[in-house]
Amino acid sequence: ASRLKGKRAFITGAAGGIGSAIAHAFVSEGARVMLTDLDGTAVQALAGRVNDDAPGAAAFCAHDVTSESGWAEALETANAALGGIDVLVNNAGIWAVGSVEETDPSEWRRCMGVNLDSVYLGMRLAIPYLRESQPASIVNVSSVSGLVAGHNVAAYNTAKAGMWMLTKSTALHCAHRGDDIRANSIHPTFIETGLLQDVFARGGERQPLTDDQKGKLTRQIPLKRLCTVEDVAYAAIYLASDESRYMTASEIKLDGGLSAM
Ligand code: NAD
Repeated sequence: ASRLKGKRAFITGAAGGIGSAIAHAFVSEGARVMLTDLDGTAVQALAGRVNDDAPGAAAFCAHDVTSESGWAEALETANAALGGIDVLVNNAGIWAVGSVEETDPSEWRRCMGVNLDSVYLGMRLAIPYLRESQPASIVNVSSVSGLVAGHNVAAYNTAKAGMWMLTKSTALHCAHRGDDIRANSIHPTFIETGLLQDVFARGGERQPLTDDQKGKLTRQIPLKRLCTVEDVAYAAIYLASDESRYMTASEIKLDGGLSAM
């Protein structure tokens, strides 16, 4: 398929569960990708696997999304490697547990830094590149937690809701300037990736979820299954492609009906 033919995409947190699914899916639709992650070894291995399927389609670099200079360097590396950037996928993220009383200031700032400040920095620094490549698209991976409050997730709820609104604000900014740079967010519910395993590990080792844990989550979802990384990749393909050309300052909920209840 070639829904992203000619597109050059910059993907953060690419070594993770959702990021690697987006990387493979984008390349299978004809895109070339810059894969970045805090974990340089893992993202290098991912780029190797992507290039096994589509030689030359993936470049990679180690990149901490909380660092402004890191963003500047990674975007310049991508621009040089790909010859421009048409799509920015802000996907890197971490889990943070705790109520407002349980969350200490350093944990609060860590969550905001990785999940929200990063998106502000990335969009601010990427827009000049995207402006050179119009039509362009920003795809922000938020969460159903950005739309609906949960128990004991004060910082994560707040960061993901901030990301949702910052996406709209950025979309309107670009539209008002007359730039064809769209920005939209995706809001998945539970997916069994490393991040969800962190939710249950509560400070201990990551482990696959038990059937009992999966069952408890699944029973909350009207469609009676968890979300998958492929579900997110399909939405990301749509938002990155020109098929969604009239969609901006908007969001896709991937929650099996959860937030409608
Ligand atoms: P994951 O832990 O598998 O992947 C996250 C990736 O982000 C990892 O590769 C990690 O190294 C990277 N990362 C962490 N901090 C970073 C930093 N400072 N700079 C650069 N990279 C960094 O988790 P995932 O489930 O694939 O999460 C991807 C996104 O999806 C996150 O934003 C998450 O909040 C969101 N999300 C996940 C779920 C879920 O249930 N898994 C649900 C809704 C939304």
